[in-house]
Amino acid sequence: MRLVPLCRNIEVSELCYGTLTLGPLQKGLTPEEGGRLLCVAFELGVNFFDTAELYGTYPHLASGLAEHMHKVVIATKSYAADAAGMEQSLAQALRSLNREYIDIFLLHEQESVHTLRGHAQALEYLLRKREQGYVRAVGISTHHVAGVRAALEYKEIDVIHPLINKAGIGIVDGSREDMARAIFDARKANKGIYAMKALGGGSLHKDAHAALSYVRELPGVAAVAVGMSSPVDVYANCTLFSHGAFPPDYCAGKSKRQVLIEPWCTGCGVCVRYCPQGALSLASGKAVVNEAQCVLCGYCVAHCRDFNVKVI
Ligand code: SF4
Ligand code: SF4
Repeated sequence: MRLVPLCRNIEVSELCYGTLTLGPLQKGLTPEEGGRLLCVAFELGVNFFDTAELYGTYPHLASGLAEHMHKVVIATKSYAADAAGMEQSLAQALRSLNREYIDIFLLHEQESVHTLRGHAQALEYLLRKREQGYVRAVGISTHHVAGVRAALEYKEIDVIHPLINKAGIGIVDGSREDMARAIFDARKANKGIYAMKALGGGSLHKDAHAALSYVRELPGVAAVAVGMSSPVDVYANCTLFSHGAFPPDYCAGKSKRQVLIEPWCTGCGVCVRYCPQGALSLASGKAVVNEAQCVLCGYCVAHCRDFNVKVI
């Protein structure tokens, strides 16, 4: 699989392994099970792995890539807003991954210039750590056009991880054209771009080849993070990115995933507050999901302390 320049001398495989799907918020594979998939992907040419403190997949990466840690590029994310919180996040990532540096550290889910300003201390901390060599590149992840545009105002930001897909699913504040224009402008401003949710959280599985081609061909996008949770998916996506086509008979996302609210949901509303897509609401004392708005990110799962919401 070809390597492409992302930023600051970091070269990545065009296919980035999105590890959210492996962890407790989604498939719930053990570190050993998930690690085996990551190792297979590495052997098929993937050198770029995307995770986050929230995903709970550091153990999967540590298990599967232990022997290859010095050859891979790892991007992770934290919600920390101040220096002390980010110090803890960086220390946890370094310790859990058994690494001396993190390649790409992102401020998780930045919505606009206002949220970026609110994370100024955390950003400044990461920039200091970049100078000291503990982080190679600094950036943001975002579901918002305004998040991409906000990052353009910070010349010290190296990487943007935006949500985009051919149906525009999950873009909170605009169309796919608005996001594509923002990405183009960001690339012109020298930001490294790797995209997320090219398959719309699973909604575009039926047309996976076209959906991935749309994002791969967008001007400015260097790499695309794809969540994979089976050997068949890993092999098929590696084949597509290396040779231009899925294997014959491959059917992406055979079983449709969905958000399940357990009947014993108490209606406390915490998950509703944390859904970045506004896909959850309360009705008759329970959480309900609007499937048209849900991108199956699983973030709600992390915020229900009673485990009453799941992505299955
Ligand atoms: S799913 Fe969990 S967090 Fe959401 S309303 Fe029900 S009990 Fe509360
Ligand atoms: S309902 Fe849950 S899985 Fe769906 S978009 Fe909201 S947080 Fe993500």
